[in-house]
Amino acid sequence: MTTDNRLIVCPHCGAVNRIHPGREAEAACGKCHAKVFEDHPLELVGSTFDRHIAKSEVPILVDFYSPTCGPCLMMGPQFADAAKTLFPRVRLAKIDTSAEQAVAARYGIRAVPTLILFRDGREIARQSGAMNARDIEAWTRQHV
Ligand code: ZN
Repeated sequence: MTTDNRLIVCPHCGAVNRIHPGREAEAACGKCHAKVFEDHPLELVGSTFDRHIAKSEVPILVDFYSPTCGPCLMMGPQFADAAKTLFPRVRLAKIDTSAEQAVAARYGIRAVPTLILFRDGREIARQSGAMNARDIEAWTRQHV
């Protein structure tokens, strides 16, 4: 575990903040003063996805899902639980592949749900199929 400050993107205004390890839970954005990092999944869209993936020094686990997919709906609360246990080691985020088809195509998403773990702007692991919170957490911890 590094003790260096980590860059993290504000989900509210997009500003890149430098956060001291251990201060994630109370850190407020220097620009908009909202909380920079919370323990629930962040809903991304095409315009915010790239910025979070590229600029964040915190690993980001993205749930590529569709609102009409049964297994995705079942996994939703499990993913939210995993966001709590993985906080603040990893940020969890979701993107609706039916609305953001360009992003889904860029990552070759053929089945939902698919989880992709990103670090420093690069994909480091992916897994398709619904998982429960415990499995999401265990799988993620293998890689970060
Ligand atoms: Zn902000």
